[in-house]
Order: sequence, then C-alpha cells, then structure tokens
Amino acid sequence: MPEGNSHSAEAWLSRNLVGPTPAQGTSPADVLNRCFRLSVLPVVLAISAVLVAVMWYREEQLGLITWADRIGYPLLLMVTSVGAVLLKTRPASLRAVMAMVFFAYVIHLLAVYYSEMAGRWLTGNSSSYELTILALWLPLGYVGSFVFFSPRTALLASLGLFAAIAWPQLVLLAVVSDPVARQVAIAILISQPVYIASLWGEGMLKAHTKGMQDLARSMTAAATIDPLMGVANRRAVVQVLERLTQNPQDPVRPLALMLLDVDRFKAINDTHGHAVGDEVLVTLSRQVNAHLRSTDLLGRWGGEEFVIIALDQTPAQAVEMADRLRAVLEATPFPQVGTVTVSIGVTGHIPGERFDTAINRADDALYKAKQQGRNRVEGLFGEA
Ligand code: GH3
Ligand code: MG
Ligand code: MG
Repeated sequence: MPEGNSHSAEAWLSRNLVGPTPAQGTSPADVLNRCFRLSVLPVVLAISAVLVAVMWYREEQLGLITWADRIGYPLLLMVTSVGAVLLKTRPASLRAVMAMVFFAYVIHLLAVYYSEMAGRWLTGNSSSYELTILALWLPLGYVGSFVFFSPRTALLASLGLFAAIAWPQLVLLAVVSDPVARQVAIAILISQPVYIASLWGEGMLKAHTKGMQDLARSMTAAATIDPLMGVANRRAVVQVLERLTQNPQDPVRPLALMLLDVDRFKAINDTHGHAVGDEVLVTLSRQVNAHLRSTDLLGRWGGEEFVIIALDQTPAQAVEMADRLRAVLEATPFPQVGTVTVSIGVTGHIPGERFDTAINRADDALYKAKQQGRNRVEGLFGEA
C-alpha cells in the first residue's frame, strides 16, 4: 500500500484548509521546548558556574573542602561554563551539552556521597544531616536521565545510579545499630525506587499516547486511501466535499468538480484480463496526479470512475483543465493496452447547494460526453 501519500485527502485538507501538518519533531510544542531550553539553559548554566566557583573558593578559604568537592567543583565549573558557551555559539550541541552536564552532576553527586559514607565508616559519625541533604538532590539524577535519554536508557541509568547509592546503605544497615541512621537508610532505599517508578510510568504513558496517535493516523490513512491506486477513496472525497460545502471558506473559493470515467474499460478487462485492467487504473491515476496542482484532489469514486476536486477554477478554466487531462491520457502509452481514453463531466459547485447536487450535475455532464462519442469533455453549470 502506498505510504505517506501526498495525494491523500488528509494531506490535501492539511495543505488547503487547515495548514500544513508539522513534520515529526517540529510541532509547536517541540519547537517551543527547544527554544526554551536554548534560551534558558545557557543562563542557568552560567549562574551555576558562578555559584560553583564561589562555593569552591569559600570552602578552600575555610578549609572545609573535601576530596570529593576538589574533584567535583572543577569538573562542574568546566562543564557548566563550557556548556553555556557551546549552547550560545552552537545550538545544535543541545543534546550533547545536556548529557555532559548530566554526567558531571552524577559523578559529583556520587563522589560526595561516597566520601560522606566513607567518612561515616571511618569516623563512626552517625549524623544524618549531610545524608538527608544529599537525599534531597538524588532524585535530580533520575529526572535528568528521563529528560535526556530514551525511557529504556533512562531506566537503566536510573537503576545504575540507584544501585550505586543503595549498596552503601545496605552495608550500613548490616553494621550500624543507630536507629536514626537505619531509618534514614531504609527511607533512602524505599523512596528512590518510587521516584524511578513514577518517572518510568510517566515515560511509558507518553510513549503509549504517541503510539495511539500514530495508530490513529495510520488507521485514518487506511480508511481514506484506495489500496490499489493510493488516491483518496470515496469516503475521503465525501468528507472533503462536506468540509468544502458545509463550511465554505471565507471568502468563498470557486470549486469545480469533475467526474472522469474510462472509456470502454470493460473491453480492456475482457481482452487483457483484470490484472492488466488494474495496471491501467494505476498508470492512469499516476498520470492524472502528475498533472494536477497541489490545490486539486483526485479520488476514486468507484470502479473505473474518478472524481477531481479543483479549487479556485472558473467554469471555463475547469473545462480547459479537464480537456488538458483528457489529451494527456490519450497521448499516454499504456503497456499491453496501447491507447486508453477517458470522458469527463465538469461542473461548478454553486455556493449553498449540497455537494451531491453538484456531483449529480457532473454525472449528467459525463453521461452527455459518453453519449456524444466518448474521449471528450462536457460541462454543465447551473445558473450561479
Ligand atoms: P463506458 O465507456 O460506457 O464507460 O464503458 P465501460 O466498459 O467503461 O463501462 P462499464 O461500466 O460497463 O464497465 C466498467 C468496468 O470496469 C466493469 C468492471 O468490471 C470494471 N472494473 C471496475 N472496477 C475495477 C477494478 O478495480 N479493476 C478492474 N480491472 N476492473 C474494474
Ligand atoms: Mg467506463
Ligand atoms: Mg463507469
């Protein structure tokens, strides 16, 4: 079945009535999100760099600096300042900068955490203050991974981070009897998986919603596109005609309708077989589509009969356009069959009338073209 068909009724409606369908990753929300990140993140990173530098300087002066911060502060300072400059000068580096900041944060966090835990084991200091403060910042690691990575990678990264945090708490539970330290350890062990599960659930929900949207889109395409030719089917054409005639555009755009029927098609089937007949229909629909403007829509009305919706065409222009199509098809060589001709009935939709009234008029015009010898165009226009 033809994929992503620009001749589908949906694509036509998007182009002509409701504006273009945004490509993936360029929806207004995506663009806004990206612009927001590109304008806000450099400022956040620059402020972070200044804060890190101030804290590093103060702790050095007061002699409070730990070995973990001696590694972490320079690393964070470098990553945040380089990241801020990169985002301003090379917006395409957004993902790389975000990942770099995320890793620097995780490395620093773990270094501080391990030095704190090592201090506890070495000195026997059981104050839970530092650990409680750290626990407040831990979830940022999970949030960051779900922001920067795919749900699956984020889950693995989060579980890895959790494992890195959990094992010292398990050791602590095994060797420490202080009830407060044990309670803090248990709280950390229970709360972190809850964060991860919530973020994972949210990610799954988003993926599910996107899956449903994609499914709805492909089902709409399947229900509105003719499987043989990849053009709009009758249901889709009716939808388009309803939209055009029930909610007329402002200002009203002249709308021409054509019914195109293959001449003596039954003889083609009888002589060459049904499969060749099918090929004739495919070649014919391709040829017609190749000669239509983007504001015209070709649909299969049934059997070997097609409808063409042409916007902004006066009756004279529509008849001229139909005759051009007729001539193009007459000059098109069809493999095995040779020459194939068509008859076309043309009409104009009168503002306010039902679309089937206009279609019936086009059908009368088509009948007239058949009566008058085929391979010709006839127009029937009501008093507009
Ligand atoms: P006319 O010039 O009066 O239109 O003659 P015709 O033979 O084209 O008209 P008729 O309506 O008698 O025949 C249409 C034929 O089209 C009959 C039907 O079997 C055939 N047909 C309809 N749909 C398809 C299709 O999808 N594939 C093929 N191969 N044939 C089809
Ligand atoms: Mg026919
Ligand atoms: Mg027919």
